[in-house]
Amino acid sequence: MYKLSRYVTTSRTAASSGSDPVLAYSARTGQTMRLSTSLWDQLATNQFDRLTLNDFQRLKESGIIVPSIEDEFRSVLNENANASMTYSTLFLVVQPTASCQLSCSYCGQTHSKRRLTDETIKSIVARADEKLKTKRYTQLEIGWFGAEPLNALPQIRKVGAELRSLCGYYDVAFLGRIITNGLAFTSAAAADLLQIGVIRAEITLDGPDEIHDNRRGTKSGKGTFHRILDNIISVLDNHRDKISVSIRCNVDSSNVHGVHELILELHRRGLHNRIASLYFAPVHIWGTAGADQALTASAFAALQVEWFLKMLALGYKVDLIPKRTTIACMVFKPDSELYDAFGNVYNCTEVSHVEAYNIRNGDSSTTTNKYAIGAVDNHIRSDDLPFTNFYDEVSSGAYQCSKCQIFPVCGGKCPKSWQEGNIPCPPEKFNLPQRLIIKDLISNRATKIVGAHKAVT
Ligand code: SF4
Ligand code: SF4
Repeated sequence: MYKLSRYVTTSRTAASSGSDPVLAYSARTGQTMRLSTSLWDQLATNQFDRLTLNDFQRLKESGIIVPSIEDEFRSVLNENANASMTYSTLFLVVQPTASCQLSCSYCGQTHSKRRLTDETIKSIVARADEKLKTKRYTQLEIGWFGAEPLNALPQIRKVGAELRSLCGYYDVAFLGRIITNGLAFTSAAAADLLQIGVIRAEITLDGPDEIHDNRRGTKSGKGTFHRILDNIISVLDNHRDKISVSIRCNVDSSNVHGVHELILELHRRGLHNRIASLYFAPVHIWGTAGADQALTASAFAALQVEWFLKMLALGYKVDLIPKRTTIACMVFKPDSELYDAFGNVYNCTEVSHVEAYNIRNGDSSTTTNKYAIGAVDNHIRSDDLPFTNFYDEVSSGAYQCSKCQIFPVCGGKCPKSWQEGNIPCPPEKFNLPQRLIIKDLISNRATKIVGAHKAVT
């Protein structure tokens, strides 16, 4: 016996010819099927015995129907737990410095000139060695993260070279990615990064020049847009097939009016088909910063559909349909750790260098970050780590995730946000039906994308 999956989202194809008007998307598999009205009616009214063998097979493989005895929520949790247990990449994040040239309005970090010392570098490499020795990993992935990591390029080179040689010794693959503000992301810096396996870079542009410069100017008040854009173009000219560049745009009410112009500007500079992606992220609370100008999730989602249409019309690649996500973030990657510029250790990327999380120690003259799990050159605790009880909480119904139709592709998004009382639902929670229609229009060429606007709004 079978039933309609609880993780199906449907959308009506506004531009269809009438024979296949229902799009049914399964968050269990990330697949979408075009269904006739009569077939959809059979599913919606539980008439599974009337399905043809062919329809039955297709619906089953797409995850749109599932065995009636299956507790799907439990299955998703089990699949996620299993994916964590068998994950064979060791993912470590290194913050080589606490310094940054910019003073972004929504940044929650406190910056200082601190860089990794030789002693701390030794301890990080020893820690990676200890983990790789277990032989449970086939790959080491390093995320270089800030403040601004390229302010400490010598430290990146040193740690990177030592880790690469460790990977050679244990015969595991080695790769890296960097999140940089782009100001020092020159072609020469990219060449250095490639030497230590960095093949992906993510850079933030928050709008066209004036808007970006107002939000992401230097600490001394200088604009950064043109230099960052010139750097991106130079890196792509010189290293295009070796390093992929994604551009992220953090959006809130103070720059939302500039997003269309940013899309046009990147297109004018020929980047639309040279970058790996241009994507938009809602500004969210970071420590105590970021919240005052945030858009509501549903407002952001509605605007995102407009941006997608514009990008598609201009020839950008757009990731419309979410895929099954079994590991929501680094919290669920086994042994994953972040080392900050002081040698503090965390299991989450949003808490280090954030003063708002500091609590006074007993002597009251010093502080400790409440999310730190230890110091890399001293003791690091291995149990009771922050956020790791998230799925137990989800399981007990503490958050909306246990009832959410897209839980299998979202995974709850961000345990830290939930535990701090902030709701991190991604835009697809609100605009998945429109995404399905746009994807269908593209796949079936039912109409030109430039005319798709009417069909989805
Ligand atoms: S808990 Fe949230 S902030 Fe921390 S790593 Fe996961 S997704 Fe990122
Ligand atoms: S974070 Fe929001 S969208 Fe994601 S599973 Fe939870 S309720 Fe659903």
